[in-house]
Amino acid sequence: MKSEIIERFTSYVKVDTQSDESSETCPSTPGQLTLAGQLVDELKAIGMENVTMDQYGYVMATLPSNTTKTVPTIGFLAHVDTATDFTGKGVKPQIVENYDGHDIVLNEQQQIILSPKEFPELPQYKGHTLITTDGTTLLGADNKAGIAEIMTAMDYLIRHPEIKHGRIRVAFTPDEEIGRGPHRFDVKAFDAAYAYTMDGGPLGELEYESFNAAAAKITFKGKNVHPGTAKGKMVNSAKLAMEFNGMLPAEEAPETTEGYEGFYHLISFNGDVEETRLHYIIRDFDREKFEDRKANITAIVDDLQKTYGSDKIILEMNDQYYNMRDKIEPVKHIVDLAHQAMENLGIKPVIKPIRGGTDGSQLSYMGLPTPNVFTGGENYHGRYEYISVDNMEKAVQVIIEIARLYEEKAE
Ligand SMILES: [Zn+2]
Repeated sequence: MKSEIIERFTSYVKVDTQSDESSETCPSTPGQLTLAGQLVDELKAIGMENVTMDQYGYVMATLPSNTTKTVPTIGFLAHVDTATDFTGKGVKPQIVENYDGHDIVLNEQQQIILSPKEFPELPQYKGHTLITTDGTTLLGADNKAGIAEIMTAMDYLIRHPEIKHGRIRVAFTPDEEIGRGPHRFDVKAFDAAYAYTMDGGPLGELEYESFNAAAAKITFKGKNVHPGTAKGKMVNSAKLAMEFNGMLPAEEAPETTEGYEGFYHLISFNGDVEETRLHYIIRDFDREKFEDRKANITAIVDDLQKTYGSDKIILEMNDQYYNMRDKIEPVKHIVDLAHQAMENLGIKPVIKPIRGGTDGSQLSYMGLPTPNVFTGGENYHGRYEYISVDNMEKAVQVIIEIARLYEEKAE
């Protein structure tokens, strides 16, 4: 199975599918359609049924039930795009067989080294087959590992009809990294009771809690006058912006929080005397605290407007996604089943809240409860990204075991 996984994964990562927030189209970049087309061909070739791709690049397919029992339809999802943080063009995957636990030279010329000194989890992969970058791009294990795992699991189930399962739906979706993955996802057409995104990190990860998330853009308007004659006339918008930021609790930031703690994060600060724009994201697991954080932003803006004038400070704030726990808790058995699948395979489940969101955060609110399962990758979104093929194989087995358990538990 290992060689099939490597073959699939390395073929997917060679297609540049980096998404682009500034694009208005869906998918946001044409490379995603190229890979989606390739996946359609492959799904047909392995024998999946009802293979479709819509105008937005959403690929769906069915593996029909092979049991007489009534089993709920379950889905498996992965996203075709890669992160915007680092280039995904010209990815040259490097295969390290029987990893010795020491430094891996990613790029001799530029002396880019993947070292246990910086990445202390590396030695636990001793003996594994690893796939790394050549140090100049990201790898794209997020989320092409998920695609390779779902594809390999479906292929395996088709070739092993002795493993009984209900109807299974798979989907490969665009633009997860820019938060638009679920926007045009046709939940009705997908027609599954529950789904799992194969979009987590290291072995055993199982996630069903995400942040509640909002974004705030605040524009400060100033008045520029020659500094020599500015007394009583100049309004420096950059200073208004700094005053605003100074009124937020400094310790509630990503760099000072962990676990279940929420934060305000200043993403960007652009401006001059005339006009300054601040862009924040607001995150909290607790819905009430999340609402309090947004109310706090509004209150500070109100306060400053009283001092400087309501036309000087303009606030735009939008919710982005919510904690999927609220939608998954009532069907917690879908998490318990994935938990059991891992235990049956000797994998220790690691349940922790995602300090971020996944497609599942939005899908769960669209009526498709969708926890997240590990792919086996590490250091996503950058040049040090790598993945263990041994753990990808375990992810494939988890998919198969989840499918099998749903059938076993059905009447
Ligand atoms: Zn991802």
